[in-house]
Amino acid sequence: MSIETKNKYGFTTTVVHGDRQKIIEHGSLHKPVHTSVTYGYQDARQLAEVFQGRAQGYRYGRQGNPTVAALEDKVNVMEGGSATICFATGMAAIGAVVQGLLRAGDHVVSSAFLFGNTASVWQTIQGQGIGVTMVDVTDVAQVEAALTANTRVVFVETVANPRTQIADLKRIGALCTSRGILFVVDNTMTSPYLFQPKAVGASLVINSLTKSIGGHGNALGGALTDTGIFEWSQYPNILNSYKKFPPVQWGMAQIRAKSLRDFGAAIGPEAAHHIAVGAETMALRMDRSSANALAVAQMLEADPRVSVVHYPGLKSHPQHALASELFRSFGYLLSFELQPEIDCFDYLNRMKLGISATHLGDNRTLVLPVAHTIFYEMGQEARARMGISESLIRVSIGIEDTVDLVADFKQALDVQ
Ligand SMILES: *Cc1c(COP(=O)(O)O)cnc(C)c1O
Repeated sequence: MSIETKNKYGFTTTVVHGDRQKIIEHGSLHKPVHTSVTYGYQDARQLAEVFQGRAQGYRYGRQGNPTVAALEDKVNVMEGGSATICFATGMAAIGAVVQGLLRAGDHVVSSAFLFGNTASVWQTIQGQGIGVTMVDVTDVAQVEAALTANTRVVFVETVANPRTQIADLKRIGALCTSRGILFVVDNTMTSPYLFQPKAVGASLVINSLTKSIGGHGNALGGALTDTGIFEWSQYPNILNSYKKFPPVQWGMAQIRAKSLRDFGAAIGPEAAHHIAVGAETMALRMDRSSANALAVAQMLEADPRVSVVHYPGLKSHPQHALASELFRSFGYLLSFELQPEIDCFDYLNRMKLGISATHLGDNRTLVLPVAHTIFYEMGQEARARMGISESLIRVSIGIEDTVDLVADFKQALDVQ
């Protein structure tokens, strides 16, 4: 399941030495940043072969770039995939699934506990004739009950932001496998270090590279990985032009053309380079931020001025057992509510290390009042359905020293 069993080396060794599995120009240790947009050929026939997919090679930066290809290889090995395509952002990777694989009349069953912008995408595609049913994915029975004859995709996140609900990943994977439905898992919150969705039968895996894989808040990126499990010969929406490849490649061939090439959300080579460098330390950062998050969550839960803490590492979390079974550790995302007499804005303003900012998976600890920011646009009714109270605080724990962080979250509870 994990990279350790598939490769000779552990996760970080594999990632750090990944580029060297292919020859890097001039003995360079990092894959260099290639900024050329186009590629020339001495023999025009060779250019034609590259265009026709009969020879390997680059043609135009929107469809592929050597620096981006090195990042694709890196993410692919992290996810144990058969192929990976990178995009300008995580949202572009999600959009690529919609653009490349869904048609009017199709139906999607999705988690109701969803990254806000993904929920917004579902609203858009419903206006374009694609049905979406959002259900509580902690319960496989709800997913099964929502399936129709037209359901093409089941879409879940591993750990939901901000309430940290965990999808019943194993059972949903088994259900999708038995019904031949594409199972798409957004692995952003766990990252391939904490969890490989392939292990539960995921067909496609999404990662926002902007978050923990890049890790430094200095580059946007997204990735879509085919785990190699799904039988594309059973999928109705593959166009004949992409059926000239072996079936295991059909889905990604169509996505590379119909989504990346035609809609153009290509990642730039500089961003790809930043993310590839960040990826080298992801496991170290995740170990540290997960340990920090557990310490902060335990301190908050024990303090009477805090009314509730949502963190999968706490025994009080409804899916604690599932998270312990599936994930290497519990991650850096937590959320909590203060007792009503403490104003959540005042609390955030008293923090010295926690920065009031959006974003996740940064080296720095970031905090934000959820209902008033990232979930503001959807309105209170939709928030209530997603279990998001008006005073909920979301935290993305960073890699600061544990004692400093715990002390900061605690001192801010003192109302002066
Ligand atoms: C941030 C995020 C995305 C979108 O990624 P961007 O790189 O910001 O476009 C998608 N899914 C989840 C779970 C995220 O946290």
